[in-house]
Amino acid sequence: MPRARDRVRDRRTCRDIGAKSWRYGVFLFLAARRTDTHDGRPWKVTVSKVSAFRYSKPREVARLFAEARAMISPSLTSLSTYGEDRSASHLRFLMVAEINGLIRPEIRALIAALCVALLCAAATPSADAAPSTAKAVSQPAVLSVTQLAPGLYAHRGHDDVATRQNGGDIANVGFVIGTRCVAVIDTGGTAAEGRALRAAIRAVTPLPVCYVINTHMHPDHILGNAAFVDDHPQFVGSDKLAEAEMSHAANYLRVLTRELGDVAAGSRVIPPTLPVHDTLDLDLGSRVLTLRTWKTAHTNNDLTVYDKRTGTLWLADLLFAGCLPVIDGSVLGWLDDLATIRALPGVRRVVPGHGPLRVQWPQALDAERDYLARLARDVRAAIRAGQTMQQAVDTIGVDQRGRWRLVDVYHRRNVTAAYAELEWEQ
Ligand SMILES: [Zn+2]
Ligand SMILES: [Zn+2]
Repeated sequence: MPRARDRVRDRRTCRDIGAKSWRYGVFLFLAARRTDTHDGRPWKVTVSKVSAFRYSKPREVARLFAEARAMISPSLTSLSTYGEDRSASHLRFLMVAEINGLIRPEIRALIAALCVALLCAAATPSADAAPSTAKAVSQPAVLSVTQLAPGLYAHRGHDDVATRQNGGDIANVGFVIGTRCVAVIDTGGTAAEGRALRAAIRAVTPLPVCYVINTHMHPDHILGNAAFVDDHPQFVGSDKLAEAEMSHAANYLRVLTRELGDVAAGSRVIPPTLPVHDTLDLDLGSRVLTLRTWKTAHTNNDLTVYDKRTGTLWLADLLFAGCLPVIDGSVLGWLDDLATIRALPGVRRVVPGHGPLRVQWPQALDAERDYLARLARDVRAAIRAGQTMQQAVDTIGVDQRGRWRLVDVYHRRNVTAAYAELEWEQ
């Protein structure tokens, strides 16, 4: 049987390799563990949560895996994809390699990392991948906004993935007005949407924009930041946001350009100038917004905005309403955060990151909590029953279609993310 110390060391080795892979714009969680099959000698190296952008052709995936197998054969006894999940802009797949024993653990980890490097290399743009030529719906010059409470405005994004047709306008964004200045909460999926949001602010108030708050790293919430640079605001986000943006920016922009073509022009990542550690109050003049960071949930850099004057809690992507929640962080962390959020005093209204702007409070959290809790429960049961990740993906939550929008895009990905997280509990 493996010694506990070996397990710890090998986990660390793999995580180090994963961290280095961030340089390539790929988020990687690499884990290795000894199995007790085959006389306890073989190792099962699990490479999970590999996000590869730019893929559009299944044949390329097959070729890639053939190359990986050829490269590390004969040490590799099996190699297969798990939880392949394709959407318009994004393919995520998981790989499991079972490698025979008698190889030093570091070498095993290295082999796994080489596989990942291959995946990364193949995920770079190909010259023949032309930008989408689908007809674009031109971004309105002024974004439509709704006043949810005095001085608090929000725009409802499309319930979809970013496309040329919707101009990347898929997240709920908004702004809050004090007596001195304005705080923007998320800026949308493109510079054009950011400009339209800025025009919506100008239509309501002449006060300057002093803060641009980004609730987390996802491109539909941050890529409109460029529209506000000339206002010289403080760009505000979690103290983990800058690093997360840095490691994902290249891929976010590459995918955006591929999917939206010229509609994406001018979009770029503007990192926070004012990081939030734990909580931070922003005074807009007779109006204080309380920003708060959370434990890893939707992402590792989630941040909420509380407007005490109106009892409004802007939850952003900690709350999905009607659209399937997407796990890019931790299912267990998210459940913990939801329990805390539900017990917060003074909250009279919440704003989700996706879905209707007006939702029932606190009932709005229940559907999301039930989905996440059931996902965690079913994935744990699958792991206990010895199911592979693929079996879990194929069987868990198949009845969710019809209950949520975008299930086909995100549910299988959620199962793989939960499996990768929960298999360490055993
Ligand atoms: Zn979002
Ligand atoms: Zn998000």
